[in-house]
Amino acid sequence: MNTIAIIGAQWGDEGKGKITDLLGQHADYVIRFQGGNNAGHTIIVKDKKIVLHQIPSGILHDNCTSIIAHGVVFEPEAFWHEVESIKDHITVTPERLKISLNATVITRYHKLLDAIREGNGKRKIGTTGKGIGPAYEDKIGRRAIKIKDLFDKELLIQKLQIALEEKAYLFEHFYKTDFPSIEEEAERLYQYGQKLFAFVEDTFSLIDKATQEGKKMLFEGAQGVLLDIDYGSYLTEKLGIVKAYTTRVGEGPMPTEISEEIGHMIQTIGNEFGATTGRKRRCGWLDLPSLKYSIKASSITSIALTKLDVLSGLDELKICYAYEIDGKEYDCAYPGLDLAKAKPKYKSLPPFKDDFSKDNQYATELNEYIELIEQTLNIPVGIIAFGPERDQIHLRKKYFH
Ligand code: GDP
Repeated sequence: MNTIAIIGAQWGDEGKGKITDLLGQHADYVIRFQGGNNAGHTIIVKDKKIVLHQIPSGILHDNCTSIIAHGVVFEPEAFWHEVESIKDHITVTPERLKISLNATVITRYHKLLDAIREGNGKRKIGTTGKGIGPAYEDKIGRRAIKIKDLFDKELLIQKLQIALEEKAYLFEHFYKTDFPSIEEEAERLYQYGQKLFAFVEDTFSLIDKATQEGKKMLFEGAQGVLLDIDYGSYLTEKLGIVKAYTTRVGEGPMPTEISEEIGHMIQTIGNEFGATTGRKRRCGWLDLPSLKYSIKASSITSIALTKLDVLSGLDELKICYAYEIDGKEYDCAYPGLDLAKAKPKYKSLPPFKDDFSKDNQYATELNEYIELIEQTLNIPVGIIAFGPERDQIHLRKKYFH
């Protein structure tokens, strides 16, 4: 087992950062393979809070090379802010971090488009407004600007004209908003290209060679189901990160949302406020039907169950094992189902209280909770996490032999 992928199995904020940090200690390479700087991994090392957005958490380990691979949408300005924000703890050098020459660049046009769409109410989908969706649209449309395009100014202007002319038209005539000229954007991106040059490499070949040599590779995903687009075939173990309850930011159906006081308690104890935007996260009981779907869709092979400490000591504990929709019962949230109509069916469990001081010996009620999850999902809970600190973690299974 030398290639492991870390996948968020819920609606984000599962605690991926800490699990990546744990396994990164033993990895030769940590690879960010999708997503952008909307993610916010928080890792606490010796009382210092380090928040990473696009830099892989392998950067925290000296033995490890970090890679931003070609599936990522990359924002150069935000990257330098991030390098600056962690510089008291970590020095990011071209030896420690490689950026794919084929990663897609997020331009100011993408950010502007994202912000306008979110702002005008009609198409609000709760994005973080960082241009990630529009940049991916251009990637799929085969007109994206790649990192390698940033090094030749004439070529960059030509490419930007192709990539951005429709957007320029929209800004001017449809949204009637100010926007930077293609030449200004080209100059800005070219300058960033010069700063980035030393970090840029053909990381596809690097990953291919390292995998063949049996190096330990940790693939760090920002979100789940997109997984197989770029690297699916490399992966042997797919570790799904699952918070012991459910949270969701922004709009959209959430069958197990708790409207009573206990939901508010979970939000407060679990500090469920966004790392990037500060927004409140909606809280609910663990939703096994939607987890079943994530596991099938991303072929997840084991689970890290995080934030168990938040549930410890509550006087109520429930788990959703099925939904009822239009009088029928479903134990998996298949994509055709209308989750807005789903009524959760709960099993009430005896609440648990545990201080997690004994390695892998838990209160009987907590064992019951973990075992019910394993039995229903039919995969092992290989890791449990019970606090934000680096060492508040127990391994129930071996990773990276
Ligand atoms: P991501 O969006 O999945 O990358 O989430 P993060 O890695 O940023 O984690 C979200 C928050 O949960 C951070 O503030 C972490 O410090 C915190 N966290 C992670 N694991 C645990 C845990 O087991 N218990 C508690 N109480 N907090 C945790």
